[in-house]
Amino acid sequence: MPMTTILFTNVRIFDGSGSALFAGDVLVDGNRIAQVSAPGTRLRAPAGASIVDGHGATLMPGLTEAHAHLSWPSSIERFVPGMSLPPEDLLLTTVRNARILLDYGYTSAYSGGALGKTLEVSLKAHIDSGGIPGPRLVPSSIEREPPSDGQLLQAGNVADHGKGPQAIRAFVKSCAEIGAKSVKFLLSGESALQPGASMRLLYTPEEVQAAGEQARESNVWLTGHAHAAGAVKLGVRNGFRILYHCTYSDEEAIDLLTGNRDRMFVAPSIGIVQATLDAKPPPQFDMTHMKQDAAIVLEHQQRLAPVLKQRGVRLLPGGDYGFPFNPHGRNARDLELFVQHLGFTPTEALVAATQWGGELMGMSGELGQIKPGYFADLLLVKGDPTVNIGLLQDKNNLVAIMKDGKFHKQPMTPA
Ligand SMILES: [Zn+2]
Repeated sequence: MPMTTILFTNVRIFDGSGSALFAGDVLVDGNRIAQVSAPGTRLRAPAGASIVDGHGATLMPGLTEAHAHLSWPSSIERFVPGMSLPPEDLLLTTVRNARILLDYGYTSAYSGGALGKTLEVSLKAHIDSGGIPGPRLVPSSIEREPPSDGQLLQAGNVADHGKGPQAIRAFVKSCAEIGAKSVKFLLSGESALQPGASMRLLYTPEEVQAAGEQARESNVWLTGHAHAAGAVKLGVRNGFRILYHCTYSDEEAIDLLTGNRDRMFVAPSIGIVQATLDAKPPPQFDMTHMKQDAAIVLEHQQRLAPVLKQRGVRLLPGGDYGFPFNPHGRNARDLELFVQHLGFTPTEALVAATQWGGELMGMSGELGQIKPGYFADLLLVKGDPTVNIGLLQDKNNLVAIMKDGKFHKQPMTPA
């Protein structure tokens, strides 16, 4: 297939570095960015290049979802009342959710666990070979079912993976062997599902240490759900790449996160919290307890996130989308919540979702910014998201979506 060359002209560029928007042109050659004009200057279109006139729209890097559960069923296209589906429906729903993320500007997704063992590994193979639309994916394997009171949100009846360091080692190894790139552990429970569970550790230190050792040996990343301070500490000390929530971090946990900020990431996962507070469930679903817990988590996150940010810990948007009241497709709301609750400016939230997203994906230096040599994952956005971060939640504002140099959404050429 011949390489395509595309010149984006007459755009304002948000390059993902945090620098202010500047007027300019960007040249894409094949699947990489070839050239970025100096601010206020134009590029000459090479012979044979297609030209996209942005009419002053903003060109920015594609977004990364740091806490994706593509197999969690609900999306803004299709409401699913619970969390479990028959296998065939689950498979097709997962495929559909991958496409929905890309439709909403998410060109990358780091998985926080799946409802099937090889589901995301297979999905990634189909996406990467060009057969199915979806984001670049760091695929995970099955996630252990959290302890739950269970009437409202059973997380899909996922099998347990045994107890003791040997069983944990075998689990990590088996995930690596089937091609998972990240392995998810619920280091703490989840109070939204069972009162008090966020404060309980679900693994012994020996088990988490075994997970860390096997992950290094098998060359996979570890991903942790961690509310309790003790869970955060176990995760950091045993080499986890990303920790979700970190709600009840104490001084020691904050110091540990700070000391490891160059190799790890935190996703507060604020989307699910706000969605729980906003949810208006039908009378047969009693969300009183979930809402009380969400209010407490929000209060803690509002205090914690600015501290971590100030200490240079990379906090990434991504918020457990896929629940009935927090559907896939609403992911960009997380950026707005970072601004509303966590002390980020719109530009800082955008840097977190783009530049840091590329780093989380393990593609530091070639993904998440608009610079020569970077992969051409680009969004052309009507308006200026550094002024109005909420723009990104409406897919009608995404004039064009490009992943790996190919348009997922082609800009309309005015007649
Ligand atoms: Zn999650």
